[in-house]
Amino acid sequence: MDMNDSYADIIVDISHENLDRTFQYRIPSELAKSVSVGSRVMIPFGKSDRQVAGFVLGISDKPKFDPAKTKDIISVLADDTLVEQKLIILADWMRERYGSTMNRALSTVLPVKKNVKTAVKRDVVLKLPDSEAAEKLAVFEQKKNVARARLVSSLLADHAVDYKLVTGKLNISPSTIKALCEQGIIDVRERRMYRNTVSPSERTAPVDLLPDQKAVADDFINDYRSGIRTTYLLHGITGSGKTEVYMEMIDHVIASGRSVIVLIPEISLTYQTVMRFYRRFGDRVSTLHSRLSDGERYDQFERAKNHEIDIMIGPRSALFTPFDDLGLIVIDEEHESSYKSDQMPKYHARDVAIKLAQIHGASVVLGSATPSVESYNAARSGRYKFYSLKKRAKEASLPDVCTVDMRDELASGNRTVFSRKLKDAISDRIVRGQQVMLFLNRRGVSSFVSCRSCGEAVKCPHCDVSLSQHGRGKLVCHYCGYEQEEIKVCGKCGSRLIGPMGGIGTEAVQQQIKSMFPQAVVLRMDADTTRKKGDYESILSAFANREADILVGTQMIVKGHDFPYVTLVGILAADMSLYANDYRAGERTFQLLVQAAGRAGRDQMKGQVIIQTYRPDHYAINAALSQDYDLFYEEEMGYRTLLSYPPAGHMLAILIESRTEKEGAEAADALASVISDGIITGVAVIGPTTATIKKIKDVFRHMIYVKSMETEKLIEIKDRAEAAALLSSDVRISFDLDPMGGY
Ligand code: ADP
Ligand code: ZN
Ligand code: ZN
Repeated sequence: MDMNDSYADIIVDISHENLDRTFQYRIPSELAKSVSVGSRVMIPFGKSDRQVAGFVLGISDKPKFDPAKTKDIISVLADDTLVEQKLIILADWMRERYGSTMNRALSTVLPVKKNVKTAVKRDVVLKLPDSEAAEKLAVFEQKKNVARARLVSSLLADHAVDYKLVTGKLNISPSTIKALCEQGIIDVRERRMYRNTVSPSERTAPVDLLPDQKAVADDFINDYRSGIRTTYLLHGITGSGKTEVYMEMIDHVIASGRSVIVLIPEISLTYQTVMRFYRRFGDRVSTLHSRLSDGERYDQFERAKNHEIDIMIGPRSALFTPFDDLGLIVIDEEHESSYKSDQMPKYHARDVAIKLAQIHGASVVLGSATPSVESYNAARSGRYKFYSLKKRAKEASLPDVCTVDMRDELASGNRTVFSRKLKDAISDRIVRGQQVMLFLNRRGVSSFVSCRSCGEAVKCPHCDVSLSQHGRGKLVCHYCGYEQEEIKVCGKCGSRLIGPMGGIGTEAVQQQIKSMFPQAVVLRMDADTTRKKGDYESILSAFANREADILVGTQMIVKGHDFPYVTLVGILAADMSLYANDYRAGERTFQLLVQAAGRAGRDQMKGQVIIQTYRPDHYAINAALSQDYDLFYEEEMGYRTLLSYPPAGHMLAILIESRTEKEGAEAADALASVISDGIITGVAVIGPTTATIKKIKDVFRHMIYVKSMETEKLIEIKDRAEAAALLSSDVRISFDLDPMGGY
């Protein structure tokens, strides 16, 4: 045995059910350079050593069996256009970057085939040339073989007849059909029927793009034509026509013969949005969404594979549509946190899209009215090409936005959740018959402690995140483990009105509104009122049909829909999301406020937005007030740079889950010392500490955070932790690179 021998894990049947059935082969030294993960190779298979093709899923220098008995790979197949190959390369990259087994990574990217009953339609067809069939017909007629004669004569007329029609209307028995098949006169052919939920309506011509929209589309198309493939960020305010611009780009890419994936958040995957694509591109479009059955999903993937569609629209998982000739991936609302998977591998669709585009030689277009700090930073530093659209496409002007300082309301004795200004504005709209949206910001809120008089929240001295109340009497930081006693008096203003803030719910807001404006019809949209399928749509359509004056809701109401009669948007407790204990709190708050404000005055009537806050001086609130993204970005980036948070630095969250508290704590300690051992320079290990949510379903959770300026170093740490974790099976370890939420 050669010391430098290497071995490949090869899969012969790459389907969801068989992912764990790999076989190890030796890579002969002359093939060493040409075999990599994803390669398609010929191998001798089974007892008879018949030659079959397989895909390489992994390479290692350790033989699993007796090397003398391990067979050699015969050759490498040059064909690299197969979609399976591309998906394997992608899965391997995901496994390495996000930390997961190859199996899990592969089952994330491969279409599920399990238990799918595909609808099949059968046709009876003539197998013989017409002249010969006519001779047979004459023979049957002569022999008074009426059934056979009837079938052949109708096939001579139509050539293909539906099987059901043959056995039904033509009244021909299956045994007759079988007999004619055996004689080689006819054949039964299967036709796959695809289940598609939306049937294309009539096509409409594209709109004429406005000059600034056209400039963006033309520039992209020029790049594309000259072979430039890169990532673009399109920053366009709500209503500036980003969707129209995407469609223009898509049109060019599919005309040049390549396919396109469009990602949009599940919540905006509404009938309205999807129909815009169907009207423009007809039945070359398909959609994926969570209401499809596994069978329906699989069908849509098959259509993509068979080149029956060019465009797939869907949430995060639509990325794995098996197109073999991808030209463009569009990610709308690219800042949305739903693009990050919360299951292993915890991938971010943006990063995976960029990798996938590289594999295919495709471009990526990211779009948002409030881009993520990461993407804007990448555009600033020249890694992404930047476009912007600053005007709304329709006449509508941007709404007037103002803040109300809720501390003043409290000082003047108003203890309701509505400022006097908001209350007056609501009553004005009711009189005029215009509509109001009230947005209750409750995103990412756990129990934090703040002062009702001055708005100060109690923060960690080391991390600039709010401390969380842990049981009674203790405040804890989840990033560094810092702890302190509960405080009774505000450190800033001395007020005793300090304590945990859970915040008021949408139901209470609805009740307060009803008692203030008994004549108003109020709808409520939150997790409670949208439990059943269709609830979400029916609330929105009732509001769109002006069956209600006021819609109260959580962040669910912020997205997507145009309500021309909404002229007032009230944002209650704008700063709630600022206190979420993670470093993205400011970003999330700014995004929510801008998106919510974008709901007002979408049509001809001027809109007004009232932001209620205890922190009118906070930069996220201030920047939202002036709808100034750059102002927000400068402040936010300064803060991230100071503390090396993404994108200034990178962070790896390691979650340790265990049956008992003690096991988890010990495993976390052991893991932390493995990680810190033989220091990798430029890496800071924080923790271990307990997670914010200490226990979920009786599983205890501990955390280690690792920070570094370089992603590669974090991946090295991850590999080290993975190797150590293999030694113990009682605890489960998972990784999250640049986490989007708290733990
Ligand atoms: P965004 O995706 O940026 O929110 P949309 O593409 O949804 O913006 O455009 C907002 C509205 O303006 C839509 O109703 C759209 O049809 C319309 N619109 C956009 N661009 C044009 C245009 N060039 N001509 C006519 N209508 C347009
Ligand atoms: Zn105070
Ligand atoms: Zn801290």
